[in-house]
Amino acid sequence: MATTDTDKTTDTDKTDNIVWLGSPAFPQAAKTALADDQLRRNLRHATTTIRDKRLHVTGELADWEQLRDAGAALKRRVLRHLDSYLEQLETSVTAAGGIVHWARDADEANTIVADLIRATGQTEVVKVKSMATQEIGLNEALAKEGITAYETDLAELIVQLGDDRPSHILVPAIHRNRTEIRDIFTSRMAGYGRPAPEGLTDEPAALAEAARGHLREKFLRAKVAVSGANFAIAETGTIGVVESEGNGRMCLTLPETLITVMGIEKVLPQFSDLEVFLQLLPRASTGERMNPYTSMWTGVTPGDGPQSFHLVLIDNGRTLTLTDTVGRQALACIRCSACLNVCPVYERTGGHAYGSVYPGPIGAILAPQLVGAAGSKHTDSLPFASTLCGACYDACPVKINIPEVLVHLRAKVVESKQEHHLLPTPEAVAMHTARIVFNSPRLLGAGQRLGAAGARLISRGGVIRGLPGPLRGWSRSRDTPVPAKESFRAWWSAREQKYEGEERQ
Ligand code: SF4
Repeated sequence: MATTDTDKTTDTDKTDNIVWLGSPAFPQAAKTALADDQLRRNLRHATTTIRDKRLHVTGELADWEQLRDAGAALKRRVLRHLDSYLEQLETSVTAAGGIVHWARDADEANTIVADLIRATGQTEVVKVKSMATQEIGLNEALAKEGITAYETDLAELIVQLGDDRPSHILVPAIHRNRTEIRDIFTSRMAGYGRPAPEGLTDEPAALAEAARGHLREKFLRAKVAVSGANFAIAETGTIGVVESEGNGRMCLTLPETLITVMGIEKVLPQFSDLEVFLQLLPRASTGERMNPYTSMWTGVTPGDGPQSFHLVLIDNGRTLTLTDTVGRQALACIRCSACLNVCPVYERTGGHAYGSVYPGPIGAILAPQLVGAAGSKHTDSLPFASTLCGACYDACPVKINIPEVLVHLRAKVVESKQEHHLLPTPEAVAMHTARIVFNSPRLLGAGQRLGAAGARLISRGGVIRGLPGPLRGWSRSRDTPVPAKESFRAWWSAREQKYEGEERQ
């Protein structure tokens, strides 16, 4: 695959918590990604496959809509009473022999995890796939402390070996095809441990075998593991991780110390709530009836599994997001990635263009809110990276109204731009003018006639290829059709006059 600007990782554009500083804003990054045919082929193939599987298995359940309603209601309840559920979770985890740590932001979380690892005397850890640790840039922070974190999820391993960035929530290496993965394994595995076998082919079984051999020595050697969490049950202190490969199960059971990093919104009230989410998540994410591996643990059990368990609860912008009554629904996300797989924008640009660890529709509403105030080129463009077609809302297993939040965040960006200008912005002038024109049928009719005449003048072959002035951006990537010679209003008015005339006769 051709290297794009968004692929490059340099010291100056490493992950800064949630967004990748140094990356171009979405419009520029998307343009680069769109020119990459191989990337688009890889994405089309992968998203279509997962999408079809999801539709098949969700269609099997007669009560799928009721399950979605139940999931949405539970998540709404959690967000309404987040403070009490978190305190209950801390009490339950502590009673079961775990230790709970609270981190306000990424720096605090990284310091806590690094100190915990250092206290064990270890300099390497194995990791279960985790969006929360990507969000806080844990691997990079640990590397600065001389601690190596080995990703053990197959797709995360591909990303790590390729010195790449994840481009999908569930399938971080979705932008890579088999041949590219074979090349990465062949050239990079030896630098991280056991090399790839001689003559490795790009057959899936051969690639899986190479990864298995490479990872196994790490599992057997590791004394410390770091994981994320899909759920944490306030009632019992039970933590849950679902996965497909079994690498998570190895990390969660073999090492002596387990450190779990989790966003505070992942808490669920009761163990019985899993009945809903363990049906919703696998069907919406991988298109499976159930996850191949569902691991759950409650504190520590003498003689069985890790004997030291730490739960690091991170805020990192979540309580700020909670204060927005429209935007807070983004915190209900269970990271299934269904919204990415149905999004026509994501399918064409891929995840790197979003410049954030959270790509796609959910990233477009979550990243700007976690980062905070509008006014950043990294996040201001994200709410506009959507056609508002609503496919994400239809697919979301917990019914997050992503289009509603997108429009809400767009308004915030526009308002913040206006706040920084003494004079009205061109957009504000245009909207003000539009209000006057749309309020006056006479002005609207005159404007339509004038606009249509002008459009016909600059058209060629029935299409306008370039609009003038501030409208240029609209026609840069679209063919604008020439307005009809007679507008609907003119046609209607002529029709009314004709009938009135006929009735009078
Ligand atoms: S927003 Fe909904 S569809 Fe998208 S990842 Fe989150 S839960 Fe899944």
